Amino acid sequence: MSVNAEAYKLILAELASSGASLVAVSKTKPASDISEMYALGQRDFGENYVQELVAKQALLPDDIRWHFIGHLQSNKVKQIVPFVYLIHGVDSVRLLKEIDKAAAKAGRVVQVLLQVHIAREETKFGFSAGELNELLSDPQLPALQHIVVRGLMGMASFTEDEEKVRQEFRQLKTLFNSCQAASLPNFRCDLLSMGMSADYRMALEEGSNMVRIGSLLFGSRQ
Ligand SMILES: *Cc1c(COP(=O)(O)O)cnc(C)c1O
Repeated sequence: MSVNAEAYKLILAELASSGASLVAVSKTKPASDISEMYALGQRDFGENYVQELVAKQALLPDDIRWHFIGHLQSNKVKQIVPFVYLIHGVDSVRLLKEIDKAAAKAGRVVQVLLQVHIAREETKFGFSAGELNELLSDPQLPALQHIVVRGLMGMASFTEDEEKVRQEFRQLKTLFNSCQAASLPNFRCDLLSMGMSADYRMALEEGSNMVRIGSLLFGSRQ
């Protein structure tokens, strides 16, 4: 076994009490690792790169729910829209429109999360709090009938400073509450995707209901 079945069971047990779901982040890992996790019962997998996702999707069972968690370029949208389950990192109105257009062509309604830039440094991508609030009242949004905004996604700073990470998660939770309060026809804000291997416990304490975990399950990446 190259995946960590023990860690998987422990994490599932931890998540059970909060009702949060697990996205197993399999980027850079071979399809055989995903098959092992699949055999343990896991169905939600997260990938960061379009080429890699498309290649793996072709090899693996159809009932896998593929989460795209990387930075999505507009010109690659149409490659994943026919099958993707949830796109986590949507960070511009332009990208929302691109996904809507491709989804209409594919005859689908695609679920997305809006990425919010909560870390003070490092991450370049995501809406600021101000931009998100503007977006929530953007009259263009209701016209996008082939997307459903299911919630928000964010990444905390990569730091030892736990208090800082906690504050960032709190900020995202507050924004999530305002997303829930926004009554747009194509919004169903019920997913808050925050927390990775290093910080998922704190993310759960701060209200996450979807964690994205890679290295704890599949081992460290090169
Ligand atoms: C790689 C990645 C993860 C998983 O990271 P780990 O530290 O290996 O758990 C989660 N979310 C995003 C957006 C990632 O790029």
